[in-house]
Amino acid sequence: MKRYEKLFINGQWVAAEGTGWTTLINPATEAPVAEVINASQADVDKAVKAARAAFSSWSQTSSAERAEYIRKLQKALEARKEELAIAISQTMGCPIKWARIIQVNCVAAFAKFADRAAEMDVEKQVNNSLVVREPVGVCAFITPWNYPLYQLIGKVAPALAAGCTMVLKPASITPLQDLIFAECVEEIGLPAGVFNLLTGKGGELGDALVTHPEVDMVSFTGSTGTGARIQRLAADSIKRVCLELGGKSPLIITEDAPLAEAVRSGVRDVMINSGQTCICQTRMLVPRSRYEEAVVLAKQYAEEMPVGAIDDENTDIGPLSSLAQRETVLKYIRAGLEEGAKLVTGGVERPEGFDKGAYVRPTIFRDVHNKMTIAQEEIFGPVIAMIPYDTIEEAIEIANDSKYGLSSGVWAANKEEGLKIARRIRAGQCYVNGGDFNYDAPLGGYKQSGNGREWGDFGIHEFYEIKSIQL
Ligand code: NAP
Repeated sequence: MKRYEKLFINGQWVAAEGTGWTTLINPATEAPVAEVINASQADVDKAVKAARAAFSSWSQTSSAERAEYIRKLQKALEARKEELAIAISQTMGCPIKWARIIQVNCVAAFAKFADRAAEMDVEKQVNNSLVVREPVGVCAFITPWNYPLYQLIGKVAPALAAGCTMVLKPASITPLQDLIFAECVEEIGLPAGVFNLLTGKGGELGDALVTHPEVDMVSFTGSTGTGARIQRLAADSIKRVCLELGGKSPLIITEDAPLAEAVRSGVRDVMINSGQTCICQTRMLVPRSRYEEAVVLAKQYAEEMPVGAIDDENTDIGPLSSLAQRETVLKYIRAGLEEGAKLVTGGVERPEGFDKGAYVRPTIFRDVHNKMTIAQEEIFGPVIAMIPYDTIEEAIEIANDSKYGLSSGVWAANKEEGLKIARRIRAGQCYVNGGDFNYDAPLGGYKQSGNGREWGDFGIHEFYEIKSIQL
């Protein structure tokens, strides 16, 4: 079994001060995949100091120079796409067919930030003042396991473009793509200290990173509970904090929407990546007049998605990312049953033929009321709650009756009707009639789903300060 025993600090692979190890587990087979060293708080200090030392020169590079490094990094990543897909598939359980598309295709979006580096050159003369943009400084990045490469790119690419330096700590169960990225950083000769990687446990390293006096900004993607803790800890030193957190997104299907298309798209949206997609639309709101028809369609579409081995090219639905996540999801399915929701398909039994691994049957509940636990809490598993409604006003009210506001969807008779409803949903995104995911559009949450925006032109705005120079 491969052992990753070094950390990437100050442009070099160095021995960790930490001594513990994390064993990465393939959640489909429960077999160990690799062992990775756990950094210690002393390593946090080393990495942050390296990023601080690199900041003075990196922040003064031209946007053209930074763009060139970003393009080189993208090429280096492109060359290793299959390796990245396998690494992600084996550690978090995304079927390989889907890993290539939804986990790794984001590499192409990396280069977009090469062009966006020029955003830093934008200046404005206001009366006697010159208003300029400057990089925010040393950034600490903490990322989750569900789309681990996408999370890396959404933070690292704009930070590089802006002229920031950084320390990245990925989820402890999925660090392999980050280690590959660090190898690419070394290969293209990014100046030492600009990018530093610490593997290890968030519970052990998080506080040291977030409270370090030399860290200027923390960007965190993960659960709302951990995000709230990070925000509290960072408050003492008034760091900028960008939080990309959980969601419980609604999909409103209107009375005159193309029902089969809408339900099929809604089911697939949740089931791909086994429901571990922060923006997936897990509350399906259906007009009462079409509810029974929608339930039949939802059952059919969920059951026709093959559950299988992650290296089988036919598999649509793999395991959850870990046995612990499986337990969490089963707990929610039990809660749904206890609170009176009825199973359309799925449930707590293992899918047929899978007596091990973190597999959960694709599950759809009917007769769900929006106040039930399964409609209010983020499950992060392949579970859909079908909620009936009587009027479109009621549907919008139910959609907005959530502590979260990350994403949403509408299926209507046409885009114009869908857009009218989209404007009334309190969420950072809305997908109308199955609109495609767009790497050039900002992503972020309202309410307890977070407070920043990643991706697109807005992605870089998080990473600069604004200075007024009075002349
Ligand atoms: P999590 O438990 O909050 O973990 C996320 C990251 O935080 C991991 O790197 C974790 O390290 C680290 N961490 C854990 N405890 C910490 C602490 N006390 N201080 C600092 N860092 C700590 O979340 P998760 O369960 O891995 O991820 C799923 C969540 O992420 C879901 O709620 C999902 O909606 C959200 N998410 C949001 C977006 C978005 O764009 N809004 C995107 C993707 C995912 P360890 O791995 O070592 O525990």
